[in-house]
Amino acid sequence: MFNIPIRQAPVNQFPATAVSAPASGPVAPVRGTLRPLGLDEVRITGGHWGALQRLNADAIIDHCLSWMERIGWIRNFDRIAGTASGAHEGIEFVDSEVYKLLEAMAWELGRQPDDALEARYSALVARVAAAQDVDGYVHTSFGHEGQRERYSDLEWGHELYCHGHLLQAAVARLRTGHDDELPAVARRLADHLWETFGPDGRSAICGHAEIEMALAEFARATGETRYLELARLFVERRGHRTLATTLFQGSEYFQDDVPVREAEVLRGHAVRALYLSAGALDVADGTGDDVLAEVVEAQYRRTIERRSYLTGGLGSHHQNEEFGEDYELPADRAYAETCAAIASVMVAWRLLLRTGDPRYADQIERTLLNAVLVSPRHDGKAFYYANTLHQRVRTHPNADDELSERAEASMRAPWFEVSCCPTNVARTLASAAGYVATADAQGVQLHQFVEGEVRTQLDAGALALRIETAYPRDGVVRVTVLEAPDTAVGIALRVPAWADGATLADGPESVSVASGMAAVRRVFSAGDKLVLTLPLGPRYTWPHPRMDAVRGQVAVERGPLVLALEDVDLPDGVDVEHVELDADAPPRATDDGAEVALRIRVDSDLPKVAEERIRARLRPYTDWAHRGPSTMRVWIPMER
Ligand SMILES: [Zn+2]
Repeated sequence: MFNIPIRQAPVNQFPATAVSAPASGPVAPVRGTLRPLGLDEVRITGGHWGALQRLNADAIIDHCLSWMERIGWIRNFDRIAGTASGAHEGIEFVDSEVYKLLEAMAWELGRQPDDALEARYSALVARVAAAQDVDGYVHTSFGHEGQRERYSDLEWGHELYCHGHLLQAAVARLRTGHDDELPAVARRLADHLWETFGPDGRSAICGHAEIEMALAEFARATGETRYLELARLFVERRGHRTLATTLFQGSEYFQDDVPVREAEVLRGHAVRALYLSAGALDVADGTGDDVLAEVVEAQYRRTIERRSYLTGGLGSHHQNEEFGEDYELPADRAYAETCAAIASVMVAWRLLLRTGDPRYADQIERTLLNAVLVSPRHDGKAFYYANTLHQRVRTHPNADDELSERAEASMRAPWFEVSCCPTNVARTLASAAGYVATADAQGVQLHQFVEGEVRTQLDAGALALRIETAYPRDGVVRVTVLEAPDTAVGIALRVPAWADGATLADGPESVSVASGMAAVRRVFSAGDKLVLTLPLGPRYTWPHPRMDAVRGQVAVERGPLVLALEDVDLPDGVDVEHVELDADAPPRATDDGAEVALRIRVDSDLPKVAEERIRARLRPYTDWAHRGPSTMRVWIPMER
């Protein structure tokens, strides 16, 4: 069973706010059980996530910048500013990719100052600022000579969606200690939005949610409560069928069918639905609206339990990039857009902060380590947009200089005509330290296992920890106290739901710990060590009985990683379609995956093979197609 039962949060639990330090991460609720530790309090210094952050700094950010320069998406701003000529290039909402890149650059500069990157960042901000109209509006495909009127296509124009990404980029700049040009652009824009769509303005919404969480966060970052009120208005206005529908896109597609507070599950376009959920949770936090937060939490829980893939991916319909019905989760038709997985992390992180329930951190881990990290190629120069769990045919790689028209490309592509995912990956990697740890009045909680340091100020005094781990390749997490208050504080480590047999050692004493949070509370001294050991042996996972599409099949997981079978790990001529798994034989651990017993099914299209029974290696799903074109499956039929 992969469905993770998420514990019902206690009703009306808003203890005294734990927020005391200035926020320096992407999300900073004012209420909630846990205070997020920001980029100035958590540093990733190596290991799995350190390598990914280096890849982002060394390759992904430059890759995004050079593609958008090359294909004219940045030049669109110059055209509006009057310093370049020609028509707008790209679809209507390519501004948002420039803003997500600016957000990634800001987080990266906050993580690790770099003069060359700062210069590139400032030059890009200047080009955006030059395109801002005098009343604060900024968009490169509406409202200027030869273009459609502002806000004349709210269903499909994505103007407010783009504005939201600009505000989030400004939040990243503010939270990393700079109140300079981009936050100034963002303030003028947010004031324009208040004038245009506020209580005395036009009662309308954008076809793609995003502005809601952006305005709420910009309100938190600037202290300007009007922006929160505008976010609230956008959340409350949705669900009244005001957006025009088409033959293929009904109100549900836009989440405009039912008000947020009356819905039971996420539906329609997955990224839209999840961004709206994050925005609604932000509004609920800002206004103290527990009822709204609880309905969104219930919707998300049902969605994860019934509408998410083993990888944490979401959205099984290619048409409209939509959620399917409950348990409609075909592996070979998984759309599971990278952006939907990132959006799910955003929602789960907000719910973790609100409730303190470690199951949300489990879901964040599952999603990040599988559904998100499958996207970038090892060199950071190609990406998956859709993330299938079953590839039936080998396809040709995309050329590294070729724009991909298709989100469903079965090999990673360097760039897409709609290229939301690469820049979303970039900003997520740059801000990853912001999802690692939290604090409350009792102490510190470590939710994700990274090699690095945590330093924070608790009420009792400063607490600093060094964390050493090769997770997820290895299950040992060593926490060394570098500095601690002279009174008792708690250090809690998450024990994932799959980690049967986990132990926690405090000095020479080691105890078994159940899933949830394993906490030690005492007076710590510099040099004290806690060692969490998570068993990473491979295990079989069976689908929910109502998941018809993979009935009779089994998946293999190793710790937090979903494994996959590729044809390149099978004998010549044998494909992933030709094998059945002997689930009576337990999977054996290998250094990065597992080895399983397979029977090769004699099939009319299969050339004669020497052996009918073989053992084959499964590797992490995130690594599939890194060795060239392959066929792949996560769910493997069981031997009958
Ligand atoms: Zn995307």
